[in-house]
Amino acid sequence: MPSSSRIEKLCIDKGMKMTGQRRVIARVLSEAKDHPDVEEVYRRAIKIDKRISIATVYRTVRLFEEADILERHEFGDGRARYEEATESHHDHLIDIKSGEVVEFQNKDIEALQERIALEHGFKLVGHRLELYGIRQGPKK
Ligand SMILES: [Zn+2]
Repeated sequence: MPSSSRIEKLCIDKGMKMTGQRRVIARVLSEAKDHPDVEEVYRRAIKIDKRISIATVYRTVRLFEEADILERHEFGDGRARYEEATESHHDHLIDIKSGEVVEFQNKDIEALQERIALEHGFKLVGHRLELYGIRQGPKK
């Protein structure tokens, strides 16, 4: 058995019972560098254990989301996509043709958002920013 994945460790910390199938799904999600939807997680999971059903993937992903282990995004196409919830904040730039998701951080945007909140008498406690575009040049 390979060593436990980051997400599996988080699940155990939260007292979740980890079955073999949940461990596989946790591993797939831990290893994902992109922002897969449930069907993509399912495709990757069945390469490791072909007995896993899509219903199990749906249930498990929802469970992880409810435990704040995963973050859910909807990048404009109505599909729920997932990534591991992390402390460090980033925003997303989405290619509307390919569905590719680029993560970025920008100090100016962060400061601007705080200023806008402040101007309206708010203390900012969080935000989500999604930019949509079409790639024009090579990947940076
Ligand atoms: Zn992300």
